[in-house]
Amino acid sequence: MNGDKLYNGKVEQSLKDNPVPLTKSVIQMKCPRCRKGHLFVKKNPYVLRNSLNMPDFCLVCRQDFKIEPGFYIGALWASFPIVILIMTMLSVLLLGVLDLPLEWFFVAITTSLSALQPVIIRLGRSIWIHMFVSFKQGS
Ligand SMILES: [Zn+2]
Repeated sequence: MNGDKLYNGKVEQSLKDNPVPLTKSVIQMKCPRCRKGHLFVKKNPYVLRNSLNMPDFCLVCRQDFKIEPGFYIGALWASFPIVILIMTMLSVLLLGVLDLPLEWFFVAITTSLSALQPVIIRLGRSIWIHMFVSFKQGS
């Protein structure tokens, strides 16, 4: 066994032992196949002009990100439960804990969801593509 093989073996073993977990890959919006490349061109979702721009393919493993026309329309189904979860948690906090008047509650909910919209849409797309593209070790 020469040194290179041993080195490569250790690196491969290390990656095998510690692949990026699925939830971390989804939340960090990484490529679902290699979990290293970024799904979006800009890391900051609040650069609103090109917040949803995605490269055509992963710059690390070349996984196609534009799988078919209209692919990300289905991501709305992934965003919807996120919105419901946020609304539920905010409702419990604002009405249950802080006992906010109803009109201020609606202002707070609308403002919060509007502010979180870029993140929610991106997260929905990340969940959606992770549902259809599986992780491949060493890609
Ligand atoms: Zn990739």
